[in-house]
Amino acid sequence: IAEDDKTVNRLYKGLVDKKRSCLAEAITLVESSHPRKKAQAQILLAQVLKYCQKKAKHSLHSSSSLSFRIGLSGPPGAGKSTFIEAMGKYLTDKGKKVAVLAVDPSSSTTGGSLLGDKTRMPQLSCDMNAYIRPSPASGTLGGVTRNTNEAIVLCEGAGYDVVLVETVGVGQSEFAVAHMVDLFCLLIPPAGGDELQGIKKGIVEVADLVVINKSDGDLVPAARRIQAEYTSALKLLRKRSKVWSPKVTRISSLTKEGVPELWDMMMSYHDAMLTSGEMEHKREKQHKIWMWNHIKENIMDLFKQHPFVKSQIADLEYKVSLGAITPGLAADILMNAFIKDMNNSK
Ligand code: GDP
Repeated sequence: IAEDDKTVNRLYKGLVDKKRSCLAEAITLVESSHPRKKAQAQILLAQVLKYCQKKAKHSLHSSSSLSFRIGLSGPPGAGKSTFIEAMGKYLTDKGKKVAVLAVDPSSSTTGGSLLGDKTRMPQLSCDMNAYIRPSPASGTLGGVTRNTNEAIVLCEGAGYDVVLVETVGVGQSEFAVAHMVDLFCLLIPPAGGDELQGIKKGIVEVADLVVINKSDGDLVPAARRIQAEYTSALKLLRKRSKVWSPKVTRISSLTKEGVPELWDMMMSYHDAMLTSGEMEHKREKQHKIWMWNHIKENIMDLFKQHPFVKSQIADLEYKVSLGAITPGLAADILMNAFIKDMNNSK
């Protein structure tokens, strides 16, 4: 693929001209597994990254003209789509452009989608200053998160001020999202006991903000109680930043009470992280994680396509499941054949 590839040029121009259709097409390109399209996607991404860096350099603060990347996770029913609709409208009314991307762990296993569906956010999906993108339809979590990383950059290039990355608290997807955003926000319903079982301990440790949703009507006392619980739990955690300690707040996405205050809180995080240089450092670290995601995905592809691996995998999996051979030995047999061929082809 040449640097002046026609498709790449057209998409790049359209993207920086803030054309929504070009952004959508560009994201489809980075989601493609077709070799030629993958190559085009990488050229486009390199150009967009360069453009964003240039834009950031020209502005006063080094990355203040970049998007604010916010991750949002929470158990099903916490009110994520209601929240995104409320926060999204609040921001577009303020004149901001908002993009919503979804990382849906269910879509890779079941083919169905839990998140990012346009019908879940009826108002925002008709808003000219909002762009809602459902989760990539297929692929492993590694592939989906890699695509999402790239989609974030494309939204940044297309001039979106806020990029919201939504995921559901299932599997590892929320940790993956925490690794691709500036601020990670956990949305929790004011329910106790069993309903909160779905929230993994580890995820609270990576949250910058815990938001108790549905703090309205009869639910206010329960919301207060949960807020107090999380506030004391967060105090026990190791400090991750010199300028920010995680906070717990209550909102109602339904009445929109607390939404402006929450945005102010998010902005004070943004400003503190930016001026201290921690934001830049965080993004640098995330770039490395992103690179390793690419490597892991590509190596897995190569490995699975290897003729010996391909021919033996079913048999070895069967033997491992029966306990006839240890998992470690089975892995060694496949790895050794793979590595031997790698060495021979040098
Ligand atoms: P999601 O699965 O996390 O996306 O949750 P939804 O946004 O679909 O919300 C689940 C249910 O909770 C819906 O019936 C919403 O109307 C309700 N809900 C969402 N936010 C609030 C809120 O702030 N207050 C109340 N009372 N209900 C809410």
